[in-house]
Amino acid sequence: MQAQLQQRPYNFSAGPAALPAEVLETAAAEMLDWHGSGMSVMEMSHRGKEFISIYEQAESDLRELLAVPKDFHILFMQGGGLAENAIVPLNLSRGGKVDFVVTGAWSQKSAGEAKRYADVHIAASNEASGFTALPEPSNWQLRRDAAYVHLCSNETIHGVEFHEIPDLKALGSDAPLVIDFSSQQLSRPLDWSRVGLAFGGAQKNIGPAGLTLVFVRNNLLGHALQACPSAFNYQTVAQAQSMFNTPPTYGIYMAGLVFQWLKRFSYRGRNALAAIEQRNIDKAELLYSTLDGSGMFINRVAHNARSRMNVPFFLRDERLNDAFLADARERRLLQLKGHKSVGGMRASIYNAMPLEGVQALVDLMRDFEARHG
Ligand SMILES: *Cc1c(COP(=O)(O)O)cnc(C)c1O
Repeated sequence: MQAQLQQRPYNFSAGPAALPAEVLETAAAEMLDWHGSGMSVMEMSHRGKEFISIYEQAESDLRELLAVPKDFHILFMQGGGLAENAIVPLNLSRGGKVDFVVTGAWSQKSAGEAKRYADVHIAASNEASGFTALPEPSNWQLRRDAAYVHLCSNETIHGVEFHEIPDLKALGSDAPLVIDFSSQQLSRPLDWSRVGLAFGGAQKNIGPAGLTLVFVRNNLLGHALQACPSAFNYQTVAQAQSMFNTPPTYGIYMAGLVFQWLKRFSYRGRNALAAIEQRNIDKAELLYSTLDGSGMFINRVAHNARSRMNVPFFLRDERLNDAFLADARERRLLQLKGHKSVGGMRASIYNAMPLEGVQALVDLMRDFEARHG
């Protein structure tokens, strides 16, 4: 089994994305009989003691890893990031004003959906740059009476990341900040003092699709619109410890295995989240420095906004795209084709991607350039 797993290809999918082989191995071993219970996790009541123990362990490991403060609830929901684009305004907007910072396809989509529930204002946008830079926070046009401000902390498609969460207070706003951190969560620590709510689908960095994580500060609960479905009312979900209805039990179990893997993770003398963050920095530096040193490949994102997780890049001669992808497949480097709206290539290098995977990609790029350059 081990030898077989070590030969798995490197998978650069943007999501659903690669999971650590160790985690998949544990899940496979426990598939038919979880810890002597005689049941697969998929076959357990979500209210039974076995599943409750899985849920409680996952919740406490996640809280510890991300240092989530006590006044934040962690909700295990369904619907993905796109459903949250509606669920957030249903819960927080009170039908009033909400401000959006648009830095790419995902925040743009979020603003579009929120329009159905609230008075949406685009406080800043980098669309004019082709979504390759971050709008300078001191220029954001924030409204004093906005119910919240929304931004996407890592734009998965355009490869633009906030390396520091903006401090709205310093910008003269008392509104809570909502972040879509689907493709950033657990890749680095988060400064919770600057955030009121953070949400993300699990399928980028945490587990299988179907589980959505919502971290919400206590004092933001209890203001849902009348039309908000009960199963999507944060207060209802929080009061029921995410068991108002059946949660995505298998996804929670898989996420729990990933949290355990992260807690054991060490790298260059660091442990857990600090270790994975350092490896993510090293991977990103290796890839971006190769791109910057190349005459054939290019990444167009401003240096201070370059994502550590999603790296879109282009061949200057687009006619070579197919040849590059064919060579990648031959070297067992999977799912490098860029998003259809952007074209070119994209390497998503989430937590589960080892440094060796990025090295293999960089080796391919250098060889390809030597052959075709
Ligand atoms: C993937 C992604 C989403 C969409 O998630 P779904 O689970 O497909 O609804 C939203 N926001 C960001 C930043 C994403 O990367």
